[in-house]
Amino acid sequence: MTVLSEAVLADPVALTRALCDIPSVSWNEAEICDEVEAALKRLGHLTTERVGNTLIARTDLGRGRRVMLAGHLDTVPVNDNFPTRLDGDVLWGLGTSDMKSGTALALWIAATVPEPKFDLSFAFYDCEEIEAEHNGLNKLSKTRPELLAADFAILLEPTYGLVEAGCQGTMRVRVTTSGKRAHSARSWKGENAIHKIAPVLERLNAYEAREVEVDRCTYREGLNAVFIGGGVAGNVIPDQAWVDVNFRFAPDRDEAAAEAHVREVFAGFDVHVSDTAPSCRPGLDRPEAAEFVAAAGGEFRAKLGWTDVARFATLGIPAVNFGPGDPNLAHKQDERVEIPRIRACADALRAYVEET
Ligand SMILES: [Zn+2]
Repeated sequence: MTVLSEAVLADPVALTRALCDIPSVSWNEAEICDEVEAALKRLGHLTTERVGNTLIARTDLGRGRRVMLAGHLDTVPVNDNFPTRLDGDVLWGLGTSDMKSGTALALWIAATVPEPKFDLSFAFYDCEEIEAEHNGLNKLSKTRPELLAADFAILLEPTYGLVEAGCQGTMRVRVTTSGKRAHSARSWKGENAIHKIAPVLERLNAYEAREVEVDRCTYREGLNAVFIGGGVAGNVIPDQAWVDVNFRFAPDRDEAAAEAHVREVFAGFDVHVSDTAPSCRPGLDRPEAAEFVAAAGGEFRAKLGWTDVARFATLGIPAVNFGPGDPNLAHKQDERVEIPRIRACADALRAYVEET
């Protein structure tokens, strides 16, 4: 029995709830992808192609332009917030904000607008909430970029119904210190690598992050320790310690410039880049983007989190973020979405894609 019945597909709120109630923590997207695939195949007006647990669906009406609507299928781990709970106008639970209320809107448009004024493509993809190398959209952009071809893309990540342009890049680096092991009873024979981490933390504490304006959007950077480790045994002077640092950088820096900056901050230390994802400029000067901003009420602001709009940017496709969730609630235990916000975003999207 499918949970994505015709009645559920016809209502963005019911659809949000149905998607949230299919468990899909990263690496476990097979079931939700099966459901979405089966629902879209039943419709008949879309061609679909599945690659792993990423599903692409397209209209092929010979329109002059193609717009992509994209949403990830996975969530961060459950935190005593599954399944959903409806309380008045608020739907509580894992994925409600980030980003199944947005993914539901893409699916709802796919199901209910068979003759859009542009050709539409839809991407429902896996592994967004973990390392970039596993990200379904990232993998597709490298192996099957033709499936992502579009003139403009809307990523339905939580923005609380505002158009959020571009995105900041993100880079994780490991800063390592080395020493020399010794018995802690004769510590003067060794060199304590954990003690040597102190200046790394001091530099982080003293760091002043930039605020940068790019194409009329203000981006705020951040450089923060996110993990720390070291030690051998309770009676051994440790010979190695490390801090993992996450740098969130504005779109006036590319990945190379971001790396150079981090290396400068930690000059004198061993720095290894472990994971990186590019920034994306706002691109609001592009007509497709401007037209969507107008349809969505005319307002916009900078996207501070990293999102997959950067994947589209690397393919030369301008992209914005737009979804009903509140980005401040993403990944939180008390994640929730306001029902009127889902309906308002649904109306804006429908107005944008429907023939007038
Ligand atoms: Zn997300």
